[in-house]
Amino acid sequence: MLTRTTSVRFALFASFAIAVSSVAAWSYGAAFQIPEPKTEPKIIDPGDASRAPSDAIVLFDGKDLSNWVTVNGGAPAKWDVKDGAMVVVRGTGAIRTKQEFDDVQLHIEWATPAEVVGEGQGRGNSGVFLQGKYEVQVLDSYNNKTYFHGQAGSVYKQYPPLVNASRKPGEWQTYDIIYHAPIFGDDGRVKKKATITVLHNGVLIQDHSEIFGPTTHEPVFPAYVKHGKGPIVLQDHGNPVRFRNIWVRQL
Ligand code: MG
Repeated sequence: MLTRTTSVRFALFASFAIAVSSVAAWSYGAAFQIPEPKTEPKIIDPGDASRAPSDAIVLFDGKDLSNWVTVNGGAPAKWDVKDGAMVVVRGTGAIRTKQEFDDVQLHIEWATPAEVVGEGQGRGNSGVFLQGKYEVQVLDSYNNKTYFHGQAGSVYKQYPPLVNASRKPGEWQTYDIIYHAPIFGDDGRVKKKATITVLHNGVLIQDHSEIFGPTTHEPVFPAYVKHGKGPIVLQDHGNPVRFRNIWVRQL
């Protein structure tokens, strides 16, 4: 049985312990509160299916190729512009944006030829290269077998798409891409690899995929080489693939 003195001591100790823990909890809570944001999010016009968001850079509006030049030589781009779309002209080479980027949100629409010619990698092949080095494959992957990490929406030869969300040949398709450029150290080595998220026709097909290095056809492990900003490049793979409604938001 507790004596009266022991009870008083215990009560005092309990009160003290409660007080100390309350103060500790209060200061802990104050120190780890989520900070109140100071900057109001900028108001933009989000646009719609045919109109880019108001803070986007429009790279192709269906009229001309003034924002594009040839990858080799930087000459005026020689692809056709027809019915509001740019069309790959076989043999004229890849084209690139004049402007260079690192982290971006990119919207681009594309269509492979309605008339099916060829098979595998030879059918409706083109590509969208981030920073001129990392290809998201464009291909007619509707009833067209090829290696999985070479079909539409693959990070070429690195990651297949999570699903095949392809529309039929000739139909317009969309890519919405969120890309974070690689970060390099002073020693030239990659500190943080590039990452890419891709929605194909609104469906998630690349979920923050960590890019191994520049995409290449060769079955080698690609090596990052330090680089700065780079252009968006569209590939001439010999097939008359069409592109339209291309815009980018710098992140
Ligand atoms: Mg390609």
